[in-house]
Amino acid sequence: MRAAVLTGPGAVEVAGDWPEPECGPDDVVVAVRAVGVCGSDLAVVDGKRAVPSLPWALGHEAIGDIIRVGGNVPAGRLGERVAVEPNFPCLHCAACTSGRTAVCPDRRILGINEPGALRERVTVPARFAWTAPVGLADEDLVCVEPLAVALAALTRAGLAAGERCLVVGAGAQGLLVCLAAQALGARPFVVDPHEGRLATAAELGAAAMPAGPDVSMDFPVVFETSGVPVALETAVERCAPDGRIVLIGQSAVPARLSTFTVVQRRITLRGCLIYDHPADFAAAVARAAELRPGRILRGRFPLERAGDAFAQARKLPGKTWITLEEPSR
Ligand SMILES: [Zn+2]
Ligand SMILES: [Zn+2]
Repeated sequence: MRAAVLTGPGAVEVAGDWPEPECGPDDVVVAVRAVGVCGSDLAVVDGKRAVPSLPWALGHEAIGDIIRVGGNVPAGRLGERVAVEPNFPCLHCAACTSGRTAVCPDRRILGINEPGALRERVTVPARFAWTAPVGLADEDLVCVEPLAVALAALTRAGLAAGERCLVVGAGAQGLLVCLAAQALGARPFVVDPHEGRLATAAELGAAAMPAGPDVSMDFPVVFETSGVPVALETAVERCAPDGRIVLIGQSAVPARLSTFTVVQRRITLRGCLIYDHPADFAAAVARAAELRPGRILRGRFPLERAGDAFAQARKLPGKTWITLEEPSR
């Protein structure tokens, strides 16, 4: 079968002879319809995140149809359209049994430490294949996974209706935080050096961050979504007294931080890693029809042009996605 694979740093190829997946008793095989491109995929392509072997199958934000079920999975699931939850925590360790599956030390991640989903067929444990709500467009379904990240971040930040928040970075994750904040009745503002991304955020109802030294314009909640170390300085600078900064973007490069500012303003800094299974993902699936996260999609590429998709994903505003089939309902 065909698969988009990394063959070396920056080199993405479409293999034609990728091996077919096995199907264990608790698994389903999904015929992939589409895969969203995400910042963590780009880090893998760039060689910033090491993968276990080369060539390496890329991608994790997958949707598709169940074409095979393992012996322990109800046969009635055959033919279901699903969104894949691409993080598989062990479900047995102390973190997992206390509901904090995101920090499971044995978490398997499609496209990161497990072969990715950007191929015609992929095996997924059945409990991580979420039934698509009837009538939900593929565009919205393919954005459910990053939507789960955004919704979990809003919850961890304790963002409330009517509250102002600053979203640093208007990449795909920043856009989803904006639209989720908007839907909550909060007032999202956004800052990003890229004009196209700012315009996309404005279409989703986010205002541009007001410049200037007026402290009354500072923000009780700040989401750092860019992962650019210097962006943390903006986040801290614009965080109001007793404010919360939630970090979603990540970088191994140390960021500069004024502890004076953090202490004087009593700022809370909180890292937010993906979502916890199953509640956070279930919430994203349930709310996709209302929030329509597919509104952030822009560039669309067929599997054959996966290399272009990864190259363009950095430049294009909105989210880039790769389709293996024509999107449908
Ligand atoms: Zn992702
Ligand atoms: Zn675990």
